[in-house]
Amino acid sequence: ERLRRQLVKKTKTVCTYCGVGCSFDIWTKGRSILKVNPEHGPMNGISTCVKGKFAWDYVNSTDRLAHPLIREGEHFRQATWEEAFRFIADSLQAIIDRDGPDAVGVIASSKCTNEEAFLAQKLARAVIGTHNVDNCSRYCQSPATMGLWRTVGYGGDSGSVKDIEASDLVLIVGSNTAESHPVIATRVKRAHKSRGQKLIVADLRKHEMAQRADIWFAPRPGTDLVWLSAASKYLFDHDYQDAAFLAQHVENVEEFRASLETFTLPYAAEITGVPEAKLVEVFEALAHARSFSVLWAMGVTQHTAGSDTSTAIANLLLVSGNFGKPGCGAYPLRGHNNVQGASDFGAMPTYFPGYEKVGDPEVVAKYEAAWGVTIPTTQGLDNHQMVDAIHAGSLKALLLTGEEMGLVDANSTVVQDAFRKLEFFVVQDIFFSNTARFADVVLPASPSLEKEGTFTSTERRIQRLYRVFDPLAESRPDWMITQGIARAMGASWNYSHPSEIMAEAAGLTEIFAGVSYERLEGYRSLQWPVAEDGSDSPVLYLDRFHFPSGKARFHPVSFHSPTDELDEEYDIHVNNGRLLEHFHEGNMTYRVAGIAHMTPEPFVEVSPELAKERGVVDGSLVRLTSRRGSVKVRAVITDRVHGKQVYLPMNAQQNEMAVNFLTSSEVDSATHTPAYKELAAKLEVLDAT
Ligand code: SF4
Repeated sequence: ERLRRQLVKKTKTVCTYCGVGCSFDIWTKGRSILKVNPEHGPMNGISTCVKGKFAWDYVNSTDRLAHPLIREGEHFRQATWEEAFRFIADSLQAIIDRDGPDAVGVIASSKCTNEEAFLAQKLARAVIGTHNVDNCSRYCQSPATMGLWRTVGYGGDSGSVKDIEASDLVLIVGSNTAESHPVIATRVKRAHKSRGQKLIVADLRKHEMAQRADIWFAPRPGTDLVWLSAASKYLFDHDYQDAAFLAQHVENVEEFRASLETFTLPYAAEITGVPEAKLVEVFEALAHARSFSVLWAMGVTQHTAGSDTSTAIANLLLVSGNFGKPGCGAYPLRGHNNVQGASDFGAMPTYFPGYEKVGDPEVVAKYEAAWGVTIPTTQGLDNHQMVDAIHAGSLKALLLTGEEMGLVDANSTVVQDAFRKLEFFVVQDIFFSNTARFADVVLPASPSLEKEGTFTSTERRIQRLYRVFDPLAESRPDWMITQGIARAMGASWNYSHPSEIMAEAAGLTEIFAGVSYERLEGYRSLQWPVAEDGSDSPVLYLDRFHFPSGKARFHPVSFHSPTDELDEEYDIHVNNGRLLEHFHEGNMTYRVAGIAHMTPEPFVEVSPELAKERGVVDGSLVRLTSRRGSVKVRAVITDRVHGKQVYLPMNAQQNEMAVNFLTSSEVDSATHTPAYKELAAKLEVLDAT
């Protein structure tokens, strides 16, 4: 019995499946996972969802990448790390010598740790010599960050999950919270049920939160900006605005008020298709709530007006005085476990870690002194621009970490064609992904359970994860791989533990000044900004907004129609997103038997009325064809969707089923986030059995 107990180990980690940031103990024996036990999570307490509790077996999957691989013709051969690093360094250097450092791009992963994001941007800026560095928040939440930067200053949730729970009213816009951020959804459900918190949901689908809501309404796709701006106008027109808050804390009130002139009730009803009476019901509820929080996600951000719609949310929160106090605020729900942290730690072309501008001479001088290098002055490219630059012939090499970019970036045909044009392509992942097929070198990385580091959750909460298992075979944590590439390229990096990387980041940034591994020991956590004395910030803007004046700023917005319009031929709107059971395309979750069993393949949700019109029955094989490509999936008939709107989850591992063979290259103009949700298609029934 004593021996058995000695072999059983308990290790604290942080979930790698979504931005909620649940933390828990994992009990293991050898490489077997015995149980996941959430007891002390600073946010989740004793809760997890099905993925956090059960979806870990992928770490022992027999098809984990075990050795570095180098392409030889159509095949790959096993290589040593030394050989792989040398080959990468020599290949990159040859391209840099010939075409300059801006011919190379680095894409960091939002699934990796903060320390790994920090090293990815340091590799780009200090070793390669380019600001061409980004991460996959470009695909999801960059517009939300933009909306907050424009209005209140910090690109993060304005409060904590407990503030959502304490709100008098919660407004959810374009978020399937119960499936995409399940533990936050349980907090909302609990507050709704136990203390009568009012819940309003604006979403195309009648998903679980919409079914539970006091008011659910479904504006036409891509029109949220209109009713949100109409809500601001309604509050002003009826003298419901928080006048004292506006006078003390917000600039350009009158200019903003004047900009709302167009957004009358009749206009909002006409554009959104929501009856005026329903809009008034919503606006009155907002006006009379003592406080409210707005939760939003990809249903808002993945549009050509993603940034402007996020801005309209922040504007509405300012009009009603719902910033700078507990129990209210703005909550863009981050998708990956470390979407927040990857950007916070500088894996983006426009900012150094801690959101210090790359164009600021003082910041540049600080990094040049710290790193002993000359920092490039040319502007960097984001993910979307990198794909364009590959097609244009100016970007020749790409280092890609932990991302199934060939399936999850929009318009996959164009993205995969770009991979074919690359002169040199390195993919760092835990599995031989669809994208790895195009690589010249594939490097075996370790998943979160095999590494140490920190993640930052959607509520800006930095938490430590500890190593549960040793890296499998020859796989390595991503920070060690990045260090190996840097050293092979001549850098004298010598980090022996991620804590040293965090110490470097803390010494260089204001918002992480007080972050240290000692202060994050065990279940302790810190919400940035963290002052040097270690005091952190569960609620932002208590004294001032994050602008030199200390005041927030309204940012007027205007409406344009979504792209990829419906017409007689392409008459179906294809909504798309996550499922509870699978994480994105499913590279990890399809390797967990219990999860794969529950949802073995993609499907499309079809409304009863459309099914009747087209002769679709449950299980019919249907083809969806957009202006770019087509996919074949089985149909599920459900009243969660209505009319000619269908829902196609993104959990597809084969090109033939992946939604991004349908999506377009249209983007939000401010951030270049793909407009995944602006998608028209036609539907054919292939087999009605
Ligand atoms: Fe993991 Fe998110 Fe589920 Fe929590 S809610 S267990 S962080 S997937």
